[in-house]
Amino acid sequence: MQAAVVREFGKPLTIEEMPIPAIGRGDVLIKIEASGVCHTDLHAANGDWPFKPTLPFIPGHEGAGTVVALGSDVKSLKEGDRVGVPWLFDACGECEYCQTGWETLCEKQRNTGYSINGCFAEYVAANAEYVAHLPDKMDFMTAAPTLCAGVTTYKGLKETQVKAGEWVAIVGVGGLGHMAIEYAKAMGFHVAAIDIGQDKLDLAKKVGADMTILAGAESDPSDVVQQKLHGVQGVLVTAVSPPAFRQSVNMLKRGGTCVLVGLPPGEFPLPIFDIVLKRLAIRGSIVGTRQDMREALAMAVDYNIKPSIEVQPLTAINDVFARLEKGTVTGRVVLDIASGAEVRSKAAKAAIN
Ligand code: NAD
Ligand code: ZN
Ligand code: ZN
Repeated sequence: MQAAVVREFGKPLTIEEMPIPAIGRGDVLIKIEASGVCHTDLHAANGDWPFKPTLPFIPGHEGAGTVVALGSDVKSLKEGDRVGVPWLFDACGECEYCQTGWETLCEKQRNTGYSINGCFAEYVAANAEYVAHLPDKMDFMTAAPTLCAGVTTYKGLKETQVKAGEWVAIVGVGGLGHMAIEYAKAMGFHVAAIDIGQDKLDLAKKVGADMTILAGAESDPSDVVQQKLHGVQGVLVTAVSPPAFRQSVNMLKRGGTCVLVGLPPGEFPLPIFDIVLKRLAIRGSIVGTRQDMREALAMAVDYNIKPSIEVQPLTAINDVFARLEKGTVTGRVVLDIASGAEVRSKAAKAAIN
């Protein structure tokens, strides 16, 4: 099968022929149709985080496709089922986190496209208990970004504890942020969207933001949020730059909650006095549990939540990463794996004949 492989951190991926992955008794083999490109894949390929993947590896954790083979123990799926492969490849099922519905905090979890080969490939092996079951009405291209960008922002918004009718600020309107706006509107929130790119703010407006604020070297968007809205009840930070995190905390109303989901390497300073006196809450949030995934997928169907996508072939991955790094991708890039494979097999047949 064709796959995009990271052989060295910070270097271009190589497009290679790899063996189709073997499956264990509890696994399924999935033929990937569409694969979203998350900024996390870029962090993984750059080796940005303290815990790094083992080289070489195949990134990708927004894989949507069809089950083509099942391990002998698999009862919950059958051939032909439409499924999604998320970041949470699997977890131990036994620890205090797993047993209390917080499998995303399991210390033994494995992650697709990081500790296990992922979805920038024609086939992927996945644990049957952890794949997402795609709604019939959801096409693969829509499903792919929903499997990480969708569920992560849906969960993060719940974690802000904002209620319908209140304001939330979405800081960073990239792949995650633009879906966050759609979920936030479906949840009945008023949305202020903040980014450093005007094209991102145009997309924010298009998907329903009530207010947009252009951040920049000279302008701190928290000043605008405080002046115009007297602060917001919740902030969801999906930006890939540490200064945005400090600004986000300053956007809160008294008693508000700032949820951090963006993962740029680095740190940011916190104002102790403000946090204490204003009873601010600052909380991290990591993807979503299987239950969050069910809810995020169902809500996407019910409220017609769709990512804004740009379709590219697998072979364009290095160009897509370069653009993500520069911040020039608007919405989400989804790799069209299936038709790339079709073109390849036609070309191979033609070459043989
Ligand atoms: P993306 O590149 O599509 O979007 C990032 C956006 O941040 C861009 O629109 C960029 O213009 C904007 N930005 C950069 N600096 C900014 C600033 N100072 N102020 C406001 N906006 C700014 O990336 P993505 O795929 O949406 O991922 C975003 C981040 O979330 C990444 O760090 C990724 O690793 C992380 N992530 C976390 C989780 C989780 O579970 N916590 C899940 C998925 C992704
Ligand atoms: Zn992701
Ligand atoms: Zn566990």
